[in-house]
Amino acid sequence: MSYRYEQMDASHEIQFNQLEVLAVGKGITFADLKGTLEDFARRMFGSQVHTLLRPSYFPFTEPSAELNVECFVCGGKGCGVCKGGGWLEILGCGMVHPTVLRNGGYDPAVYSGFAAGMGPERISMLRNRIADIRYFWGGDVRFLEQF
Ligand SMILES: [Zn+2]
Repeated sequence: MSYRYEQMDASHEIQFNQLEVLAVGKGITFADLKGTLEDFARRMFGSQVHTLLRPSYFPFTEPSAELNVECFVCGGKGCGVCKGGGWLEILGCGMVHPTVLRNGGYDPAVYSGFAAGMGPERISMLRNRIADIRYFWGGDVRFLEQF
């Protein structure tokens, strides 16, 4: 459980969980990251899901990206849920920065890795068509008993 200063609305909460993914080894490439995360998206949202990796910036990965899935509401045409873009961001990811590897005791000339971070509530909202993140912390058993 983490906390942050945030203006609360249907998709932003001050308390949240963060799920981290980290793989380090010899010969791990961006293709491993892409394949792993696309497999995750298919398992979570169905085999027909379309995914899109967009370049992004995070301080501990280089290069960095955001994984998007096609909007389940409009099918990619653009609507209020996806703010007209047709895609929904589900996680941030990237190749582990060489400095992070070095500080963790791994020689970046030998080892590489990928990392990803996502909010389980956001994933659950998309998977279960939950309209408001505040339901998770509202303490209403009618909401919780559905799962
Ligand atoms: Zn949409």
